[in-house]
Amino acid sequence: RIVHVNGSFLPEESARLSIFDRGLLFADAVYEVTAVIDGGLVDFDAHQRRLRRSLGELGIAFDPDAWDLLGVHRELVQRNDLQEGLVYLQISRGAADRDFVQPTGAEPSVILFTQSLPLLDAPAAARGLRVITRPDLRWHRRDIKTTQLLYPSMMKSAAVEMGVDDVWMVENGDITEGSSSNAHIITVDGQLITRPLSHDILHGITRAAVLDYAAEAGIEVVERPFSVAEARSAREAFATSATAFVTPVVEIDGGPVGDGVPGPGTDRIRALYIERSRERLQF
Ligand code: PLP
Repeated sequence: RIVHVNGSFLPEESARLSIFDRGLLFADAVYEVTAVIDGGLVDFDAHQRRLRRSLGELGIAFDPDAWDLLGVHRELVQRNDLQEGLVYLQISRGAADRDFVQPTGAEPSVILFTQSLPLLDAPAAARGLRVITRPDLRWHRRDIKTTQLLYPSMMKSAAVEMGVDDVWMVENGDITEGSSSNAHIITVDGQLITRPLSHDILHGITRAAVLDYAAEAGIEVVERPFSVAEARSAREAFATSATAFVTPVVEIDGGPVGDGVPGPGTDRIRALYIERSRERLQF
């Protein structure tokens, strides 16, 4: 694989980053994951807008305008002959002697790599996800896309160890989101319910696109918190993320959602998302 480090394209074996990088020592870094289908980038501009926001919130002095990040994404996709998968981009505050006080002059580290993955025909989309609920013990700025992913990674590992697919995290009785996806339900009346944006959840790019496409298609969208009990008695439930697109959730804490199989509402929204994304790919 060809990867990108601080302005250079090189084989992954040759990539080097300082052991003093604050991304490594403090998770002092932000990232984006952009999906690739048919060799094109999905919603690149929206990911870049969120990246700017994350950088601004943490005061990481990386200027995206001084870089051609679209060009770097394109070149990585081409050099790796990537048809379907993702491009991962991470920007850390840079390397400095280990200190809790953030350095002012560090040069941000920029790394990118690709992963080839089946996204359009992902097995989980056909089968549906089984999730368990767990308390949301993450920090309270989940809207910033940092690499501080220990808790969601532990929870997802625990879920897989239990033989299911993922966790939906819960705070004050309401579902916040999945370990790496936003959570949504479809009520028996056909309303799409999703938690409103706040510091409590990541502002998913896929979530935003899905809400737009659903509203355009005449589906009623309501942004409000929903409880675990409500999700369990919903007609359908689904997760969204850049690489999962729209994936049905068919079981919560051992109980079926609706019929316990992927439902027509979710299938329709997934198809709509893929269709609209395909029309807007960037090459
Ligand atoms: N929520 C969390 C915690 C995530 O980590 C992610 C993606 O990685 C999402 C939601 C979905 O965001 P997006 O649709 O931008 O990939």
